[in-house]
Amino acid sequence: MTAFVLTPPSAPTVAVAGSAARFPVHRIYCVGQNYAAHVREMGGDPNRTPPIFFSKPADTVLPDGADLPYPSCTADLHFEAELVVAIGVGGRNIALAAALDHVYGYAVGNDFTRRDLQVAAKNQGRPWDVAKGFDHSAGIGAIHPVGSAGHLPRGQIWLTVNGAERQRSDLADMIWDVPAVIAELSRYWTLAAGDLIYTGTPHGVGPVVPGDLVVAGIEGLGTLTHRIVATATT
Ligand code: MN
Repeated sequence: MTAFVLTPPSAPTVAVAGSAARFPVHRIYCVGQNYAAHVREMGGDPNRTPPIFFSKPADTVLPDGADLPYPSCTADLHFEAELVVAIGVGGRNIALAAALDHVYGYAVGNDFTRRDLQVAAKNQGRPWDVAKGFDHSAGIGAIHPVGSAGHLPRGQIWLTVNGAERQRSDLADMIWDVPAVIAELSRYWTLAAGDLIYTGTPHGVGPVVPGDLVVAGIEGLGTLTHRIVATATT
């Protein structure tokens, strides 16, 4: 039996629809700039720059229904509704044709972002970690296993703030579809069971403030709700 000098942290997990068992999170990968209309609203050209990868710590997962404390060091917290792919079988250099065999299931996600810090990082050519990887930044609903939800090459994705629609698009509009995301990501990292992949957000991103109720949804996967709450400063 292994002895530890500190109490080991508990592993982050995500609920699974229709099951009492939970999905253990290994890593969280994210795709940026994967919908052309969103690339344009961020000032980019989807014909010149392919999607990119970044990551969040595994323990940033924020379950459905949980409050999101307004993060420190930002005045421009943004929502980003996204399809999340949950990996069930790992691998590297995964072929496009085999990519979907690695998927355990899908969930609705919200890639919360300190947009002001991201803009500053982009302008200075610096990493995105402080903009993307903050505590509680990875909103995620229950994972729907492929056996019940199937795969999702298309389907409506939307987001509302206080009941007003802010984002609406279709999963079919992704520049890299799910097989392409898995194949491309597995060239850079060995994927493992338990990995989550946020596949990028459509256009319409914008700010939220304490008190706002943010609901993201994807056809076939239900909804993901968070209340933004003020943070104590100590
Ligand atoms: Mn995103």
